[in-house]
Amino acid sequence: MDTSAAFTHPRHATGAFATRAHTHPMDSLARTILIVGAGFSGTAVAIHLLRLPHSRTLRIVLVERAQIARGVAYARREGPYLLNVPAGRMSASSVDSLEFLTYAQRTLPNVTTEDFLPRELYGQYLEASLLSAAQASPPHVRLERLRREVIAIERARRTSRVEVYTDRGGSITADTVVLAPGNPAPATLNGSEKLPESRYLADPWERPPAFRPGETVLVAGTGLTMADIVLAGQEAAQGQATIHAISRHGLVPAAQTAFQQLNDEVWGRALLREASVSLRRLVRAVRALAEDVELRGGDWREAIAATRGVAPSLWQRLAAPERKRFLRHAHCFWDVHRHRLPPSTWSALNELRRKGSLVVHAGRILDMDPVGRRVKVTWRARGTGTATTIVVDRVVNCTGPQYDIRHTRERLLRSLLAQGLVMPDAFGVGIMTDDFGALLDASGRVAGNLYYIGPMLRPRYWETTAVQELRTHAEQLACCLALPAQSPAGRRYRAGSERLAGATA
Ligand SMILES: Cc1cc2nc3c(=O)[nH]c(=O)nc-3n(C[C@H](O)[C@H](O)[C@H](O)COP(=O)(O)OP(=O)(O)OC[C@H]3O[C@@H](n4cnc5c(N)ncnc54)[C@H](O)[C@@H]3O)c2cc1C
Repeated sequence: MDTSAAFTHPRHATGAFATRAHTHPMDSLARTILIVGAGFSGTAVAIHLLRLPHSRTLRIVLVERAQIARGVAYARREGPYLLNVPAGRMSASSVDSLEFLTYAQRTLPNVTTEDFLPRELYGQYLEASLLSAAQASPPHVRLERLRREVIAIERARRTSRVEVYTDRGGSITADTVVLAPGNPAPATLNGSEKLPESRYLADPWERPPAFRPGETVLVAGTGLTMADIVLAGQEAAQGQATIHAISRHGLVPAAQTAFQQLNDEVWGRALLREASVSLRRLVRAVRALAEDVELRGGDWREAIAATRGVAPSLWQRLAAPERKRFLRHAHCFWDVHRHRLPPSTWSALNELRRKGSLVVHAGRILDMDPVGRRVKVTWRARGTGTATTIVVDRVVNCTGPQYDIRHTRERLLRSLLAQGLVMPDAFGVGIMTDDFGALLDASGRVAGNLYYIGPMLRPRYWETTAVQELRTHAEQLACCLALPAQSPAGRRYRAGSERLAGATA
């Protein structure tokens, strides 16, 4: 059902593109919360909102330009894509930590907490959770799903409401908007503008990696996405492609293991103390913790998990120059230890490396040029001053999200930036928000009814990429939206959250 509201912005009201308005009798009384993007974050906020009690009539409008309740990570797509985290740690609910496992066991009864399941199954779980939350919600709480792209958001004149414009020409008036547009696209590679689309894949999730037998391929990036694309690409090429992967340090993520979670508050406090002094001291402390754990017969991953547990506080403790140092020198080392591969994926990559079908380089791409139907890539190996070239059949950009929103090519973000409704952070790692996810505008003021959730919460918390962190943010944001700030429960909640934020700072 098309539920676009009556108002149409003159810029978009172009004949056939103007959307016909359908209004529900409830709409004039209802509070409307509109969520832009129905990947993990937007869907999780909608699910939690549907499950919470509401005294007023509530209309939740979930707007998604692609597949609802999937996002990039859990989309329906062909390929051998597995979750990077075992089933027992992938629940979308922190209250029921085995919710995803229980869902998976309905179709795969032998699955255990330590199994790495297909990402597509996770998408089915999100879809099913959204559907059952919508069905179980009371009649005065209604969910609408819209397949649209949101292209602009503007504050309505003389009201506190917000107009949300979509690519089909209509607009929807909302009381509150939650932005959940996911990860930004990767940064542009030097010289990529000279290459035809058939030779250069700017976004690896745009279409499947159709490598052919006998081809030579260059993958820019050596992280988790590289692993996905190499395995799917080799499958398409029947194992007969030669793939070169390149990144600044040439580091490949470590493998997951069934390690035990370390529950040591003493270490957490020690790490916080070191972060207050310097990054160097913090790195030394994390290393010492990993060595200590291993000496006691444990697994270094326990130390990483313990560090991740206090990562938001560590990030907030680091002084600005130390954060800068982290981004320049320690970021990639943290990433390969923190973002790990399922053991089967890790073994498959190693086997390809052993056979020479995957070659990993440390270096930097300087330029790319088309040569006939192929691509000449000029690059420089790390630690050398001389450039060298390699000729390949195609190039895939797996360098990961470009979090500096000042360079975004997304229409919606560009429009929000132009209006000063979002503020990039000083380090180019995301979007500035307050403790409740409310956007800070260009002058640093809290925008009362515009919120953000997703991986670009990094300026405040650093670790906000995975389900484990995002589900907590989704639950907190839903509570914040459901409990009016002036109500006793709302005041209690906000005071509690502020204390929490203060305690971690
Ligand atoms: C390939 C991949 C695999 C991952 N695997 C794991 C894993 O195994 N375990 C784990 O814990 N984490 C994993 N993650 C990390 C984490 O789960 C994701 O980052 C998380 O899904 C982010 O959710 P999101 O909703 O913020 O973004 P997304 O899931 O990307 O969703 C954003 C949605 O917004 C839509 N959208 C964007 N702009 C607009 C617009 N203007 N109008 C309408 N719709 C819009 C997009 O189409 C998209 O569906 C993975 C991430 C990726 C990319």
